Amino acid sequence: GIAVVGGGTGFIGTHLCKALKSKGYSVTIISRMPGPQRMTWNELNDNGLPEGTTTVINLAGQNVLDMKQRWNAGFKQNVFNSRVNTTASLAKAITDSDHKPAVFLTISGVGIYKPDKVKIYDESCAGEEYDFLSSLCHKWEDAAKLPDSDTRQVTIRSGVVLGKNGGMIKQLYMPFFLGLGGPVMPGDQFLPWIHIDDIVGLMLFAIKNNKVDGTMNGVAPHSVTNKQFTDAFAKAMGRPALIPVPKMVLNVLLSQERANMLTQGQRVLPKKATNLGYQFKYPDIVSACHELVKKD
Ligand code: NDP
Repeated sequence: GIAVVGGGTGFIGTHLCKALKSKGYSVTIISRMPGPQRMTWNELNDNGLPEGTTTVINLAGQNVLDMKQRWNAGFKQNVFNSRVNTTASLAKAITDSDHKPAVFLTISGVGIYKPDKVKIYDESCAGEEYDFLSSLCHKWEDAAKLPDSDTRQVTIRSGVVLGKNGGMIKQLYMPFFLGLGGPVMPGDQFLPWIHIDDIVGLMLFAIKNNKVDGTMNGVAPHSVTNKQFTDAFAKAMGRPALIPVPKMVLNVLLSQERANMLTQGQRVLPKKATNLGYQFKYPDIVSACHELVKKD
């Protein structure tokens, strides 16, 4: 089939496109930057989907935790538009196409579930709008909804994706390597996580399995707290992780609304994936951390 991947140049996108190609898909990336086997968002709006498109995926989104960016109105607009408008453009392209693709797969975040130390969230929980990022998740998921049902629609609510060459691990590797790592305080907040191979695995599973429909949590079955993650990662690296990161520091560096993503957390279970028989390659944090520190 032909897969169109918005944000296919990113951390998750690169891994997913590689996996799709190995499964025999022909992949077109939608990017802000033109190039071979790519189209721009303007080209999508003008010309619609390539003929014969079977699978449409959106992974575009300005990096929220970019430390170089101040959390001001302009940046928040970019964070919002890069997710909601791109998803809406793809939904419109599907609605306008003569031959409907089989699947429309998008991503959203577990931030749609309100942080809580006791509650356990599965897909039967609708989520709440309690701050900017949770409202964004709602609008992002709404933008993916299609008016007719010819195309199966799936949204994966992803936890923090752990992989060697991107996302959170890329930021943490050097401080932990230098022995400067430590938990984000208070430490007992949950850190919903998933290994990069499993977020890609879940996406491939969702694409080929007709039973996957609507929202699906993209998290590992074994939940950990921030402290448990920190200990596992430090141990796998053979480094101490004794220097805690105080909440105040993150609130100042990132501004509180973003810092909350790290200083608070929610316990999320991948109920749908488990019930439908998806086998996690890295179900627990110890096996995941061993892979993350392994030399290629
Ligand atoms: P990346 O930071 O790697 O970015 C993905 C792509 O988004 C980029 O390659 C870029 O493509 C595109 N992009 C960036 N800024 C903009 C913008 N302002 N307008 C339009 N496009 C933009 O993201 P990840 O691969 O880590 O994540 C992919 C998606 O999954 C994101 O939406 C993210 O919010 C979500 N997600 C990620 C998690 C994680 O832990 N990584 C966890 C939960 C959700 P180009 O430069 O080619 O235009």
